[in-house]
Amino acid sequence: NAQTAMLSVKKNGKNNFIYFSHEMTTKAQKRLYLEQEIRLALANDDFHMVYQPKVDVKTQRVTGAEALIRWHHPKNGVIPPNEFIPVAEQSDLILKLDSYILDKVINQISQWQEEGLEVPVISVNIPSREFQRGDLVSCVQGTLRKYQVVGNKLEIEITERLLMERCEENIKILNHLKDLDIHISVDDFGTGYSSLSYLVQFPCDVLKIDKSFIDQLPQSKDNCKIVEAIIMLAHKLGKRVVAEGVETEVQYQYLSSLGCDQIQGYYFDKPLNIKDFSIKLDKIKFKDFANISQIKAC
Ligand code: C2E
Ligand code: MG
Ligand code: MG
Ligand code: MG
Repeated sequence: NAQTAMLSVKKNGKNNFIYFSHEMTTKAQKRLYLEQEIRLALANDDFHMVYQPKVDVKTQRVTGAEALIRWHHPKNGVIPPNEFIPVAEQSDLILKLDSYILDKVINQISQWQEEGLEVPVISVNIPSREFQRGDLVSCVQGTLRKYQVVGNKLEIEITERLLMERCEENIKILNHLKDLDIHISVDDFGTGYSSLSYLVQFPCDVLKIDKSFIDQLPQSKDNCKIVEAIIMLAHKLGKRVVAEGVETEVQYQYLSSLGCDQIQGYYFDKPLNIKDFSIKLDKIKFKDFANISQIKAC
């Protein structure tokens, strides 16, 4: 069949004729098209970031936010990150895209600070492939320096996959990032294959429980047990827990009763554009002043 035909071509490298099935052709074509368009969008600065608040369960204040990329393609409309990030990840394009994202986000943090806003920790998704590039630490450090932002304003969301791959080297890189005061969280926790012994060794501060476990809370007793166990495990290891994809009051109350530290999800906020997130930050600042004057008045 077409698939074996292509594989054998790859093996001996001699055959000039490559047969794709119809589906493969369209998939391959779509990937090539997207690759081209990502390059173009990078050159034209067509991407933008949105920021989804992470709310502290005890104080209900915004104590963090996740930066998420958005792409309104001039011809094709909105292309979701789940569609184009995997394409970028298949080539070196992801390295360019990640440097671009880091630059945008850290620049934004510095701009908010210049406006006098109290900026919480902002997290950025870094695919595990990025850890093979060798200059991730210097790239992050250079960008922080460029915009004069301190490391502890930044969090890096890694995937569980990283806990399994190139373990020694990855631990070294994460330790370098920690030396810069950068926070590390493990994204989509529970969906991958992280080994518990690696988890103990890994210098990460936060576990983010994947949305798929949150969705059916508290109806699914199995998910209840899993979520409860993850929270206990994290706390035993001295890590904080964020639940992602929290959409309802019931989910929030349940997670709160289990001692979950932070909540990210539509229940509080959808990912916000820069302006709406600034307004949110402004409110935090305003609250702070209100508290201070109250304290003084007492
Ligand atoms: P993720 O890192 O797990 O991000 C969380 C996703 O869940 C985001 O989708 C967010 O909008 C969505 N979400 C948050 N709360 C809720 C909720 O209450 N309900 C529902 N239905 N969804 C919720 P998004 O922005 O479409 O991103 C999808 C994935 O694409 C991300 O998953 C991440 O893996 C990747 N991604 C997004 N932005 C970036 C980026 O800047 N760089 C990289 N490398 N990957 C990114
Ligand atoms: Mg994430
Ligand atoms: Mg996530
Ligand atoms: Mg997720």
